[in-house]
Amino acid sequence: MFVYIAFEFAHLAALAGSQVTVLHRGPRPLALFDPDLVDQLVARTRELGIDLHLETEATGIEMSSVQFIVQASTSGETRTFQTDMVVHSAGRVPEISDLNLDAAGIEWEKRGVRVNDFLQSASIPAVYAAGDASASGGIPLAPVASYEGMVVAANLLKGNHQRSNYLGIPSVVFTVPPLAAVGLSERGAREQNLKFRVKTEMTSTWYSSRRVAEKYSGYKVLVEECTDHIVGVHILGSEAGEVINLFALAIRSGVRATDLKHTLFAYPTSGSNMARML
Ligand SMILES: Cc1cc2nc3c(=O)[nH]c(=O)nc-3n(C[C@H](O)[C@H](O)[C@H](O)COP(=O)(O)OP(=O)(O)OC[C@H]3O[C@@H](n4cnc5c(N)ncnc54)[C@H](O)[C@@H]3O)c2cc1C
Repeated sequence: MFVYIAFEFAHLAALAGSQVTVLHRGPRPLALFDPDLVDQLVARTRELGIDLHLETEATGIEMSSVQFIVQASTSGETRTFQTDMVVHSAGRVPEISDLNLDAAGIEWEKRGVRVNDFLQSASIPAVYAAGDASASGGIPLAPVASYEGMVVAANLLKGNHQRSNYLGIPSVVFTVPPLAAVGLSERGAREQNLKFRVKTEMTSTWYSSRRVAEKYSGYKVLVEECTDHIVGVHILGSEAGEVINLFALAIRSGVRATDLKHTLFAYPTSGSNMARML
């Protein structure tokens, strides 16, 4: 899941002049993001000079007197990569395994303490868990941790009355250009049997891409037919992180796609692209 941190570090290091190799076990990285836009970002990543190996599993690391030697396997074939730095970004787990939660009867799993909608432990009511340490439905991100902290505080002070709500939480891969998402993926919307329309386009000819000479940019917007609500947005482009925040506001507040389309945004901001995306 957290391969996005690998992409962020890889872009940063490559732009600073380092030679970077990324090993990824699956056929396509960034599984939580739109596959069409991920393919664009993969192309951009390779164009930056990053040596990206897909379907390649790291199996071991050795240290020689001068370098690290990373062993990996691609379709059963063993390979080695020599490097002077190794960054592990294949995922992270909450730091709870050393708390001996079992002794107190507090149920937990790899993602954290098992909680109900009030973020209260599923087994011991006196315990609440928020942020990365909680196996809630929220993605392990900084704003989610802060929000869950507030939900827990409210429920501790006045009894269980606030349920956590994860509608419209944006997520950004801070590469160059950034890749951003909020709401459902196309696949997720299909799995929920929603009736929705999709608008998608590659936008390298738009002024927002041309003014920063960005060849790789695009978007995909999903709008539910019966409610006119935006249910998912995916953007690759120079200010994707800012634009996704506006879509997050629309999704969380239930703003209709038509109302958003008719909003007069300041021009030439990247936000003014939103009307064209709907
Ligand atoms: C490299 C990296 C990049 C990231 N980039 C982003 C990003 O761009 N945007 C984003 O939204 N999120 C990002 N995240 C995720 C984000 O940092 C976490 O989701 C967020 O910090 C979770 O907040 P938290 O308060 O739950 O946990 P933490 O921020 O991890 O805080 C937990 C604290 O508890 C302390 N602690 C641990 N055990 C004990 C103990 N037994 N007793 C007392 N204290 C203890 C720890 O030392 C720590 O200070 C990134 C994470 C990493 C690792």
